[in-house]
Amino acid sequence: MSLKDKVVVIMGASSGIGAATANLLAKQGAKLSIVARRFDRLEEIKKQNPDAEIKAFKADVTQSDEVEKVIAYTVASYGHIDVLFNNAGIMPVNNLDQVAHDEWQNMLDINVKGVLNGIAAALPVMKKQKHGHIITTSSVLGYEVLPGYAAYSGTKYAVRAIMEGLRQEEHANNIKTTIIAPGSVKTELFNSINNKEVREGLVDAMKQPGSEMMALQPEEIAQAVAFVIDTPANMAVNEMVIRPTGQE
Ligand code: NDP
Repeated sequence: MSLKDKVVVIMGASSGIGAATANLLAKQGAKLSIVARRFDRLEEIKKQNPDAEIKAFKADVTQSDEVEKVIAYTVASYGHIDVLFNNAGIMPVNNLDQVAHDEWQNMLDINVKGVLNGIAAALPVMKKQKHGHIITTSSVLGYEVLPGYAAYSGTKYAVRAIMEGLRQEEHANNIKTTIIAPGSVKTELFNSINNKEVREGLVDAMKQPGSEMMALQPEEIAQAVAFVIDTPANMAVNEMVIRPTGQE
């Protein structure tokens, strides 16, 4: 792979898919800005990759000024940005009759507005430098809906729509777009489920023998992200759906 010296900003890099992607890209020689609220986790990634160029930012993707600072500081440090990976997300699960106003607001702010904040901050830089690649994590639940996941699915359909709109508006400006849509992946995402019964049921299912056929490891999604970044200039992988083999 030739990821050496690619400048990549990863939103939601403190655990799961984002952390695995940061570790993989760091080993491939990319220059990283890693972003999340849990700064200690980001520092840990830096420690695990002592030879890599990594800048860690404590920032909340729902705050446009914080996202803008990350992008501005990245450009000031590295000179340009090749890739923005919009990966921050939460997945509270509840049926709609639970009327979870705070949960819905928080999820819309992180999963949808956070993506828009990333695009808003990075796009002017990418247009000016006349190249760039924006990758956003949607989900298989951005293509199908399950009971309990309606609101989450709504956010993941939304980011697919936003990314397709971005593709149509910016492909002629040499901006690549990629939607990464994983099925089940073993991460800390379930911690954002407030419904205890649902959370514990899912966590238990992940521990059962044979669960590797039903849920991928974050490192496996990181490989897909590295693959789409490392495509030639004339090739954009616009969507990638990655299910564990055993998932329906
Ligand atoms: P994790 O919970 O392990 O990672 C979520 C990441 O998002 C963390 O780094 C978290 O950091 C960050 N994050 C959450 N809120 C904010 C915020 N306000 N500002 C900045 N960062 C934030 O779960 P995953 O790795 O699974 O999730 C990554 C993405 O993958 C999400 O978009 C999720 O919806 C999507 N996805 C996951 C699937 C799965 O089965 N795991 C399947 C399909 C899609 P911190 O809390 O430190 O801020």
